[in-house]
Amino acid sequence: MGIAQEDIKKFEKNKSECDAIFYQAMEEIIYSIAPLLESEPKYKKYSIVERLIVPDRIIKFKVAWLNDSNKIEVNTGYRIQFNNALGPYKGGLRFHPSVNESVLKFLGFEQIFKNALTGLPLGGAKGGSDFDPKGKSDFEIMKFCSAYMRELSKYIGARIDVPAGDIGVGAREIGYLFGEYKKITSSYEGVLTGKPYMFGGSLMRPEATGYGVVYFTQAMLEMEGKEGLDGKVCTVSGAGNVALHTIEKLFQVGALPVTCSDSSGMIYDSRGVDLPLLKELKMNQRVSLERYIDIHPEAKYISVSEYPQGEHSVWDIPCYAAFPCATQNELNEADAQNLIVNGCACLTEGANMPSTPEAIAMFLSHKIPFAPAKAANAGGVAVSEFEMSQNASMQRWSFEDVDVKLKETMQQICKRVALSAKEYGVEGNYVDGANIAGFKRVADAMIAEGI
Ligand code: NDP
Repeated sequence: MGIAQEDIKKFEKNKSECDAIFYQAMEEIIYSIAPLLESEPKYKKYSIVERLIVPDRIIKFKVAWLNDSNKIEVNTGYRIQFNNALGPYKGGLRFHPSVNESVLKFLGFEQIFKNALTGLPLGGAKGGSDFDPKGKSDFEIMKFCSAYMRELSKYIGARIDVPAGDIGVGAREIGYLFGEYKKITSSYEGVLTGKPYMFGGSLMRPEATGYGVVYFTQAMLEMEGKEGLDGKVCTVSGAGNVALHTIEKLFQVGALPVTCSDSSGMIYDSRGVDLPLLKELKMNQRVSLERYIDIHPEAKYISVSEYPQGEHSVWDIPCYAAFPCATQNELNEADAQNLIVNGCACLTEGANMPSTPEAIAMFLSHKIPFAPAKAANAGGVAVSEFEMSQNASMQRWSFEDVDVKLKETMQQICKRVALSAKEYGVEGNYVDGANIAGFKRVADAMIAEGI
């Protein structure tokens, strides 16, 4: 039995406790790093895998807040501080009804390796709440954020743990969270990233994840000797922060993104999606994508109810490059099959773990370049670290400076991942390359720091 199988077996007994989604993330990493574990016995000697898969601490708390009808509502809040071997805990906050301990454990675990891949001094964490921001008034969002921060503030700090946004948490929520932290602590410090520019946010933080996704794809296509994105049809899922900025950068590099989606359905606009309209609908009005066809009746809207088997209509559209940017497990084996049959030449994950293990295996077996989330969407956390640097030094960097640094960072991550894959005998496999490179950096720091 190889080391990876032994490790998986050891943790199988805990499967029910650590449940499916966290197990899925853990299993992928343990299998990926098998060649490294075989060749470097020190990781086994120091029990690195056993130590890495258990978070440093799981913080779980009650969030009671007053809605607009003066009724008290109660939600659960979390912060999972996973590993700080490389720097302060860092990772987003997600407000969505699907949030639970397991989802946040999977996201926090992935975040450790993503942050390590950036080469920056960042540990891994994740947090959030099962609070549903949909349909809430601005005052309700404000009151919830204040109540959430009243408890979270006990555990975070500019040198301890620096949360950012994720699904359901954008600049508005970060602003309210920051305001409450400041009131509680009387301290004006860079305790959150993704802040509005007017009080310490970095230029380009909102765009960073999506832009980085495209920079990574360009670097990977070049590395693999494939044609670039200029003039190519691309499909994107999601209509939030990551999707909108991926679409924006795709247009800027001459590609034609023709799809987007939200939790109710998808839009296919063969002339290229109308980005200003999308921003208006999803960022300003916060309404369903279905409204897109009021303005563009020639575009196609497909409701999720038309796909009862769980397939996803975005991936039926032929494209050169596909970008899942909505949520976890949104691209399954049948979707991968559709994309491949329709000539898809590369896939880049903008969301965290959007592809199922079977879908990933299908892309890899067809030798189609596949950029995993922990490498490809690391642009957001990289610019978050730039925001921390600017806050600490009281400087403001220009949009162009941040953009240059972001592009360089994404190119370096791509190179690091490709080289690791080659070194450990899996050339062209960016999934294994990313897991090995990320694991190595964290594991070496853990050994150097002792137990
Ligand atoms: P947003 O909340 O801004 O947008 C999420 C989008 O995905 C929305 O359009 C939402 O639809 C859609 N969506 C959510 N669940 C589903 C579903 N089950 N089926 C179809 N569509 C769905 O989040 P972000 O763009 O910030 O995050 C998207 C992904 O990217 C997440 O996996 C996140 O963890 C990851 N990520 C985000 C980073 C960031 O900087 N923001 C950094 C790195 C990763 P609706 O509008 O209907 O709710």
